[in-house]
Amino acid sequence: MAVPAESNRLRKAVRTATKVQCLPGPLARKIRIGQYVVPTKASFGWLCRRPSKADIKPYEAAFRALVQKPAQASPFLYKIMRGHMWDLRFLALQTLVSVVLRYATRMGGQLPQRLQSKAGWPRNLVVGLVSLGWVQRGTWSFYHEALNLTLKFQTEGEPLPSHKEASHWIRESWRWWLYGLFASADRRENRNNPGWLPEYDEMRVQRCRKLHFDAHSLAFVTGASVSPAAYFQMKASKNPSLGPDDVPPCPFCGLAAPEATFVHVAWECPRNGKPQHVVPTDPLEKRLRWPTASGDACLRWLAHVRGVVLGSRRA
Ligand SMILES: [Zn+2]
Repeated sequence: MAVPAESNRLRKAVRTATKVQCLPGPLARKIRIGQYVVPTKASFGWLCRRPSKADIKPYEAAFRALVQKPAQASPFLYKIMRGHMWDLRFLALQTLVSVVLRYATRMGGQLPQRLQSKAGWPRNLVVGLVSLGWVQRGTWSFYHEALNLTLKFQTEGEPLPSHKEASHWIRESWRWWLYGLFASADRRENRNNPGWLPEYDEMRVQRCRKLHFDAHSLAFVTGASVSPAAYFQMKASKNPSLGPDDVPPCPFCGLAAPEATFVHVAWECPRNGKPQHVVPTDPLEKRLRWPTASGDACLRWLAHVRGVVLGSRRA
């Protein structure tokens, strides 16, 4: 159970998120305001206890509503692209790490030998870091194998990591962990092509996060692709007697909905009008349009296709 002060702060944060959602004006502005005022309220004070699932649920629901996350988007990719402000456990861990680092700096790198203790902030620190893939390598020292990073809160003479460095590493390990959750999620793209996702690549993620997103492109990079086939499957799961012609076909060539997959409408349809220079270089670009080294031609193309497919449903 949360202590009353934490619960109160959380309740206030959720209320604030709802209020921001009701403000007039464009969505981007509401998100900007929300990110300033909501997380600071909610994330303060979790040093000795990790937020529980019950703490997290209403907070994340309020944030999802505020940012209007598309229903089919992966929550993990959405957090990677837009959401480090609405992961309460991540925010709490980041605060804890910076508090411990500040403490260690003040103590000249000498911390008590009680990291193994079963309660309180030392325990909370270990649980938080281990959950993001860090392995404890001795007292006050952690190693992240996939990212090849070492985080020490106690050193012999060497300087401690700066606040900025440590925050960056924690964020990276959090993104790496979310990417892994997406890779193993029970989703269509994973079921159809097991093992399609390349290894986590910090530069790739960074490039993608820096894109200027509109609603369609953000939906795409977070896995909310749309196709007549997916729409048909979704409808058919609710209504088994649905016929292939009851859902709009490929809007370009008229191929029946069950056959008109995302790959068909976006890449293979002979009549979709795709400019010749738009060619994806790998599966991440083909499915999610995460940019490689240059240009955003694929992203603009897929956003266009998405708009046409959605438009054909409304027609
Ligand atoms: Zn077609």
